[in-house]
Amino acid sequence: MDLFEHQAKELFAEYGVPVTPGRVAYDAAGAREVAAELAAANSPRVVVKAQVKTGGRGKAGGVKLAAGPDEAQAAAEQILGLDIKGHIVHKVLVTEASDIAAEYYLSFLLDRAERTFLAICSVEGGVEIEEVAHSNPGAIARIPIDPLVGVDAAKAAEIVAAGRLPGEAADGAAALARKLWDVFVGEDATLVEVNPLVLTPDGRVLALDGKVTLDDNAAYRHDWTRFADTEGTDPIETRARARHLNYVKLDGEVGIIGNGAGLVMSTLDVVAYAGEQFGGMRPANFLDIGGGASAEVMADGLEIVLSDPAVRSVMVNVFGGITSCDAVANGIVSAIGMLGGRGEPVRHPIVVRLDGNNAAEGRRILDEAGIDVVEQVATMDDAARRAAELAAAGSPAGTGA
Ligand code: GDP
Ligand code: MN
Repeated sequence: MDLFEHQAKELFAEYGVPVTPGRVAYDAAGAREVAAELAAANSPRVVVKAQVKTGGRGKAGGVKLAAGPDEAQAAAEQILGLDIKGHIVHKVLVTEASDIAAEYYLSFLLDRAERTFLAICSVEGGVEIEEVAHSNPGAIARIPIDPLVGVDAAKAAEIVAAGRLPGEAADGAAALARKLWDVFVGEDATLVEVNPLVLTPDGRVLALDGKVTLDDNAAYRHDWTRFADTEGTDPIETRARARHLNYVKLDGEVGIIGNGAGLVMSTLDVVAYAGEQFGGMRPANFLDIGGGASAEVMADGLEIVLSDPAVRSVMVNVFGGITSCDAVANGIVSAIGMLGGRGEPVRHPIVVRLDGNNAAEGRRILDEAGIDVVEQVATMDDAARRAAELAAAGSPAGTGA
């Protein structure tokens, strides 16, 4: 389970990780109220922050500084209701504004590939760590952590030094790292991330942002009901669940439909990889149609994936096994017909790759149907490239492109 920033910071505070005081508000008047409380407590300058479970809020206009209650209210009015990468803002965190001398990065996570815990630390914070990994990989230190030892003073100093944090931040960052590790262990997290970790001009180090993923397997030994996220649940996900379809919302532009979890996961990878050549196109979502690809399942699947307003193209990647490709092809043809019949004609390009059981017949059926939005590509890599290319050339749903 992923937490909102304000929830992450509540946990941080419980464990003594330094954060700024603040509270969440659900409307502009509420934001004004929190700002007034903070002003009364001698913090007139606040920052109003969109609470959505995705990064890059700053860039998207979801983080605004405000000089007092009036400005806080105005900022909240602008931020509430924003769509940030497909996440609608229903609440804002209003918190004391910090002066920033420098922004760093620190996280702890479970590294499944290496079968260990890992600290990641970098003197380059504030921007997304994936970006740093791309532009300046040398600036990112990855330090394995022995779970039996944890993060003691020596380990904390090692992490901070490896991240090349400057001397003036070293002690504060090391102290924070030890407490952040306590959060990680005490809350059974698989990720705790602070980006930016900031140094203030007066030499304090604090967590300006917080991202926490809790390990659902450990839910039985915690009271996590307080973190239950009702308003944040994606309405499309809810609809998919009602139809017993496994749909997950992501941040990109290419809708993904596949059969089987393994194939769907690798499709996400190849699309993200191919998308790098086309301005950073990425998967918008994914939907696993599982073993059955009847016309109804396909229609539901296509309808769900296409109702995501971020989608610009769709990649259907099916490896026929028990379900043969001709059944899938017939499913696609009648799904598109059904959607047209419902008054929801498909306007976005759909790239289809069929392989496996009865693939030749499946391809023939699609060819013969001659649907203009459907394009067949023989291999998974080429299909991913084409879907990314079409997404880059296309426009978001609803604009008819
Ligand atoms: P994200 O964009 O979703 O990661 O949101 P963050 O909480 O990381 O905020 C984005 C950026 O806004 C930070 O990197 C800071 O540069 C800026 N910011 C956030 N809070 C403050 C603050 O209290 N004071 C100042 N000066 N800048 C802030
Ligand atoms: Mn951040």
